[in-house]
Amino acid sequence: MRIDPVFIEGKRKYIFCSDEHGLRVLSSVFEHVKKEKSAYEWYHFSAEKRELLEEFLSKQKMGTFLYVVLPYSELHIVQTIAAHIGFSSDEAQFIEYSEKWISIFCCRCHELNRAEEQQTELTCHQCELKLEVSDHYSELHHAFLGYPAKS
Ligand SMILES: [Zn+2]
Repeated sequence: MRIDPVFIEGKRKYIFCSDEHGLRVLSSVFEHVKKEKSAYEWYHFSAEKRELLEEFLSKQKMGTFLYVVLPYSELHIVQTIAAHIGFSSDEAQFIEYSEKWISIFCCRCHELNRAEEQQTELTCHQCELKLEVSDHYSELHHAFLGYPAKS
């Protein structure tokens, strides 16, 4: 499962399906889409409207790329609907979040890691550096900065 959405270039249209929190997670990709002047649409997801989502997604044309950012249980619903309609794994990104999770930016390899809100230390999943979670929030990376832990 991804922790951060990646912009995929050259699609005919982009669909952002999320709730309030998901908007923040998607902001970097959204900036790219606006810069490229690509077509896009936001879909505000709520579990009660899942049938509408199915209808909405099945009306989309070929070349549409789907970004979904939701908590696990809802993400799973959308994933099932999207697969049923025929979105392949090359046509969609599913990002799970939890209110309790925060992103940590690795100062060495620049990878984003996910951590629990109260966590003070973690190991970068890419370069395996031991990181200490700082209270510096980077607007640029949408993450807290992780510095080498003093051991
Ligand atoms: Zn790293």
